[in-house]
Amino acid sequence: MYDLAIIGAGINGASMAYEFASADKKVILFDTEGIAKGGSGAAGAFISPKFSKAGELKELLGHAFLYSLEFYEKNFSEFLTKAPLLHIAKDEADSLMLKEYKKETALKLKIPPEEVVNTLHPHARTLENISLDAGVVNAQKICEAMSKNAHFKKEKVESLVYDDGIWIINETYSAKDVVLATGAYKAVIKEPYINLRGIWGHRIDIRTSTKNEHSIHQYVSISPSKEGVLALGATHNVHYHPQKSSEPYDVDAGRKELLEKASRTFALEDIEIIRDYTGLRSGSVDYMPLVGSLVMSKETLACKNINVENKKPNYEEYTYYPNLYMLNGSAGYGFVLAPYLAKILSEHILYNNKIDKRLLPARFFGRWARRV
Ligand SMILES: Cc1cc2nc3c(=O)[nH]c(=O)nc-3n(C[C@H](O)[C@H](O)[C@H](O)COP(=O)(O)OP(=O)(O)OC[C@H]3O[C@@H](n4cnc5c(N)ncnc54)[C@H](O)[C@@H]3O)c2cc1C
Repeated sequence: MYDLAIIGAGINGASMAYEFASADKKVILFDTEGIAKGGSGAAGAFISPKFSKAGELKELLGHAFLYSLEFYEKNFSEFLTKAPLLHIAKDEADSLMLKEYKKETALKLKIPPEEVVNTLHPHARTLENISLDAGVVNAQKICEAMSKNAHFKKEKVESLVYDDGIWIINETYSAKDVVLATGAYKAVIKEPYINLRGIWGHRIDIRTSTKNEHSIHQYVSISPSKEGVLALGATHNVHYHPQKSSEPYDVDAGRKELLEKASRTFALEDIEIIRDYTGLRSGSVDYMPLVGSLVMSKETLACKNINVENKKPNYEEYTYYPNLYMLNGSAGYGFVLAPYLAKILSEHILYNNKIDKRLLPARFFGRWARRV
């Protein structure tokens, strides 16, 4: 019997495996395809904050950015490339927002070197920019390293049954607690108030004679170059879905879009595309991730004490799946959020620490229940 079973071996599942194994717990980790073969395997895995107006996602990503950068550096420095980040506004309105951001941020900002700014496209030079110390992780290797002390099973989880205080997985494995970290793929437990949408992304590795030492973000992100190779990413495509679309994905159109967008930031010479990466991000309706227990909708609705019209519901009155948790909905920031959120969820499961209400999947139950 395992202390924890994790379904999904992307960066969220791998981060949970790391936290539980570090607390000397016995962990089993399942994935249909392998470690980092979903959205996580496609990621450029830039570790950066969100540059935007004030809001709860910006606030969360600010904390997660500082926590995760330090976490990767302390525990997995061999898979972290530290590099200054140069973020450039996309247009005039974005420039104004960045100016405001710079006035109020607590992050330690840098002045980008003139020789780097001078290589930018003339229009990019007229727009506001922001620079700070950041990094990029090797998506595949970091997921593998974080999962190292879990028992990995390349197996699709098809059945999950709670029996006598224990979860039975695929009628074979047993665990006290279960974490669902299945990204934008078909849900193992279907609850109608959980509405995660897949956002298809494409990134490429290119060989180029142009040297770059920064992570440069504008219309796409451009990684620092290593031995003549750098990563360009990523596209955001809400129309294509590998499990739902009838037409195959148009790789050439994706490549063209990436190269065109990068060329608007700076010129890359002698380009040879050496690899494509594609995958789904999983985004929630309010853009915040989902961390915590799952409400059993039927059982909660059947409870006479619950007034679903209450706009400020007491989540503690809901009925929850026992010892079952979700870690999902990180959209384009999975590698920034995962170490931070996995710590929060682990401390909740192990020590009953509270999770911020804004992260709980339960926030969607009341909204859904009022509609139905
Ligand atoms: C092109 C691209 C570029 C990106 N760039 C960045 C970036 O620069 N920085 C950043 O922070 N984030 C980036 N992201 C976002 C980041 O990759 C995601 O937020 C992250 O991968 C989400 O991780 P996850 O573990 O939730 O999901 P996933 O990595 O998708 O993992 C879910 C896994 O669950 C498995 N699974 C599902 N159902 C089952 C089942 N029933 N049984 C067994 N296994 C199952 C799937 O096979 C899959 O491997 C990017 C994403 C894309 C697509």
